[in-house]
Amino acid sequence: MSTLTIDSLVAAITTPGGREVHDPATEALIGTVADSTPAEVAAAIAAARAAQPSWAARSDDERRTLLHQAADAIEANAEALAELLSREQGKPLNGPNARFEVGGCAAWLRATAETPVPTEVLVDDGTTHAELHYRPIGVVGAITPWNWPMLIAVWQIAPSLRMGNTVVNKPSEYTTLSGLALIHVLNTVLPAGVLVPVTGAGDVGAAITASADVDKIMFTGSTKTGKKIVETTASNLPRITLELGGNDAGIVLPDADPKAIAEGLFWGAFINTGQTCAAMKRLYVHDSIYDEVVDALAAFAANVPMGVGLDEQNVLGPLQNKMQYGVVDRLVEAAKASGARVVLGGDPDTSKPGNFYPTTIVADIDPQNPLVVEEQFGPALPVIRYHDVEDAIAQANALEVGLGGSVWSADRDRAREVAARIQAGTVWINSHGGVDPRIPFGGVKGSGYGLEFGVEGLKGVAVPQVVNG
Ligand code: NDP
Repeated sequence: MSTLTIDSLVAAITTPGGREVHDPATEALIGTVADSTPAEVAAAIAAARAAQPSWAARSDDERRTLLHQAADAIEANAEALAELLSREQGKPLNGPNARFEVGGCAAWLRATAETPVPTEVLVDDGTTHAELHYRPIGVVGAITPWNWPMLIAVWQIAPSLRMGNTVVNKPSEYTTLSGLALIHVLNTVLPAGVLVPVTGAGDVGAAITASADVDKIMFTGSTKTGKKIVETTASNLPRITLELGGNDAGIVLPDADPKAIAEGLFWGAFINTGQTCAAMKRLYVHDSIYDEVVDALAAFAANVPMGVGLDEQNVLGPLQNKMQYGVVDRLVEAAKASGARVVLGGDPDTSKPGNFYPTTIVADIDPQNPLVVEEQFGPALPVIRYHDVEDAIAQANALEVGLGGSVWSADRDRAREVAARIQAGTVWINSHGGVDPRIPFGGVKGSGYGLEFGVEGLKGVAVPQVVNG
């Protein structure tokens, strides 16, 4: 298997004269990319449609073998993929970042290949024999975001392919090169037409969701766009999985050990410099240990290096784009204006290039402050003081979103009681945000619907069919 260099990878996916793509840390030009025309989007969907019957006709074992070979291809080209990802997305090579993400792509492909999808015998009583099978849906339109542009693409692509569907993937306009690079490597193994990229900004996503030739939409992004997708698809009724992020709450109970949980709290909130759907975005801490938790968290956070991703020492990077920088800056300024206490950060150095926003912790903040109730999706964590856990649970549940949540306590049973009352698709205990290809993941309320990962995720990209008799 040939190994790509960063230069040969970039050369394979860039188009001279196209839209310029810049490094969010240095503002250097990485390359240029062509956006798909409406005719090219239609042709991509038609190609995926044409390839789907023969892909579905292959045996499950053949498709599983190809997913493993795709993982081999990712591993053979891991360093070039990680470098490009770091340069375009901004996330550092090290820490839970670019190399970790590329490794996750291979791991997810393998786990998806190895997840059994048994035929379920529903009734077998001597007179009735009914089975539940999972059949291919057809063409999946996968619309992927800019925060984990390779891993989230694999989360949509791998199960879709395993279940006999073909895929048209539209990477975010902010991280088009990362998406194209991933597909370029996967397509060294996959048959033609099985995985087809389209690119663009402004109307390509809508063209996919409006197409009568797309049978399933998988979307990871904002609640606002998720709602538009539901409206657009009303006439064709494709199946839909929506992973729409959220505003996850962490609740620290009075018996937690502040020093012992500081590192876990930090990474729960600041992984990928806070640009993660299921990151902890607001932290509720009991008054009795509030100051110790804030101090321990700030002490840990102050020593975590942020900088240019290709510098091996850094583990936090810039915000990927100026739109998100503007959101974080606005919310922190709102918190400051309200009199909240900035314990760390909050004062970006605008004289340097790049979208760097410093690691920021804001304490003594009103529970209704915009930094608490709006999604910051960046490195600025509000820490809210509570006196009664009932209030903390009520505040955790007060928003229109419910992707994840966490409870931090020395008493696992007590933590599980609180967890049961949080309205979220996943509640972690003494950690936040970890995902696992064996464990279903999805949101409730405005965080969307449908499950990814595990056998539930595979069923989500298939049509259930009962065979009775
Ligand atoms: P959006 O949620 O708006 O998603 C943009 C993507 O959706 C683009 O690929 C776009 O394609 C596509 N799209 C837009 N409209 C439609 C439509 N009607 N039908 C189908 N596809 C459509 O994300 P942004 O990147 O603008 O980020 C906005 C916010 O979303 C962030 O501030 C953050 O809070 C959140 N977010 C959440 C993520 C998560 O992991 N859940 C990831 C990233 C962002 P086109 O350009 O062709 O229209």
